Amino acid sequence: MNGRETRRLRQKRKLLLGRMARIEEFVRGSVVLMKRPCTRPTCRKCATGERHPTWVLTRSEQGKTRTVYVGKSRLAEAKRLVDNYRRVRALIEEVAQVNLLLFRGKTPSRKGADHDARGQGP
Ligand SMILES: [Zn+2]
Repeated sequence: MNGRETRRLRQKRKLLLGRMARIEEFVRGSVVLMKRPCTRPTCRKCATGERHPTWVLTRSEQGKTRTVYVGKSRLAEAKRLVDNYRRVRALIEEVAQVNLLLFRGKTPSRKGADHDARGQGP
């Protein structure tokens, strides 16, 4: 890898990290419409199994699904938080790719090293 390519990649990384830094509000999870039962003992909707559609934010934590109540009024905000998380993840992946290219560029090149490594899984 030549100096120009290295500079280009470092610049790209700076740009990506800058974009990432501007995304402050993000939450891991999904916004889903769940049908939940209520606490009223004589609720007809619950008796028929129809129950009550409720927007919630679900996420998996140490193998367990956790939910947070969202409600209609905060639906747009919850969706934005979750979308932002996906954007941050995508940016991390892009920066990781750039870093890998930079790392490979630094490695003293050995003829056929790439070819040898191919197809040898962990
Ligand atoms: Zn009910």
